[in-house]
Amino acid sequence: MVKAIVGANWGDEGKGKITDMLAQQSDVVIRFQGGANAGHTIINDYGRFALHILPSGIFYPHVTNVIGNGVALDVSKLVGELESIVSQGVPAPKLIVSDRAQLLMPYHVLQDAYEEERLGGKAFGSTKSGIAPFYSDKYAKTGIQVCDLFDEKILRERFFAAVELKNVLFEHLYHKPRLDAEELMAQMLQLRERIRPYVGDTVAFVHQALKEDKTLLLEGQLGSMKDPDLGIFPMTTSSHTLAGYGCVGASVPPTAIEDVICVTKAYSSCVGSQTEPFVSEVTGDAGDELRRRGGDKGEFGATTGRPRRVGWFDAVATKYGCMVQGATQVALTCLDVLGYLDEIPVCTGYEIDGQVTDMFPTTPSLLRAKPVFTTLPGWKCDIRGCKNYDDLPQQARDYVDFLEAHIGCPITFVSSGPKREEMTYRTTKLYHHA
Ligand code: GDP
Repeated sequence: MVKAIVGANWGDEGKGKITDMLAQQSDVVIRFQGGANAGHTIINDYGRFALHILPSGIFYPHVTNVIGNGVALDVSKLVGELESIVSQGVPAPKLIVSDRAQLLMPYHVLQDAYEEERLGGKAFGSTKSGIAPFYSDKYAKTGIQVCDLFDEKILRERFFAAVELKNVLFEHLYHKPRLDAEELMAQMLQLRERIRPYVGDTVAFVHQALKEDKTLLLEGQLGSMKDPDLGIFPMTTSSHTLAGYGCVGASVPPTAIEDVICVTKAYSSCVGSQTEPFVSEVTGDAGDELRRRGGDKGEFGATTGRPRRVGWFDAVATKYGCMVQGATQVALTCLDVLGYLDEIPVCTGYEIDGQVTDMFPTTPSLLRAKPVFTTLPGWKCDIRGCKNYDDLPQQARDYVDFLEAHIGCPITFVSSGPKREEMTYRTTKLYHHA
């Protein structure tokens, strides 16, 4: 069976922790989209890790980790991350890299940076990891698959054609130096040797694992709001962040996905540019305090270190985010962070042109939306590390009940801290355990 762990919001919901936890009872963990442009924070017996490209199952020797064909594969980052975790005492993980994944090239990273520079103040706040140029090339069919690395004739042909196009762009649009194709080709052949031991037919592997009744976890990156079709286009990422895309990016059959665990924080956080709509944002001192107390080390990007924008829980965005993911259950993280507040606002509606709605709108309307808050009492105590849901203060449980009623999805996991074991399990009328 296949379970997907995906984000309901703007990313950084705490998917890494949930994946790390559920990987214990799984056989395979698969990354199916995105690249090294976001980070998953995992805190376990080996230490604190910010993974960017490796699946979050790599800490368990029994788990096979798969980088699916849908991923933007930056080989040097993958190799760097593997070396770094092994040097921190983690046993060498079982890893298979899809031979159909495409390569994120150094020229994608350059193009990303040049384009942000060209856009100036209108830039999207890209992490400059090359993700948008990578996916553009994939759909323009000028991308290069991992399997091409092992056929030098095909590789040379495709690679030189791609560099020719990039050079026109670099020279004439961005006024930057041309690329030296021979030099890049030599670098690529070196990197090929470093991933050779991991490359495999992940499509056959995944289907065989399903035949053998194995449990597969799909690990999503970012969240619903960042999906290029159903998110806040164009302030989205360039690959699909929805569980449904696992059918393509990890090659699992649609009917095999039985469980979609949507992760959301007990408040909101969002990285990206200031121009991005973020309706329930808290600014000023209140925002600074929430940012400082958020996550395990404050709300700062795992990849970029930049401060994340923070806000109150946005029930409108989260209801929509869970709906488009097809969530079967919800994991609510970071409830412990809110223990300092006397009262906690929750965004339950958007006011757009004088009308209040709880339906998530398209971007032009979203840009005009103002938050409508309902304020709930805080619990004013430290619940960090609580392991039993019923031990949570009444106000904390009321807060969770309120969120569940507004998003219309069963909240089954309530996380009380960043560590693997800091977790409570909630029973709810909306969810029947199999
Ligand atoms: P991901 O990209 O969805 O995996 O999320 P990130 O790892 O980027 O961000 C989540 C942040 O919240 C990280 O700093 C986690 O260590 C932290 N975190 C996860 N769950 C909890 C929780 O229940 N409480 C607290 N305080 N921090 C948490």
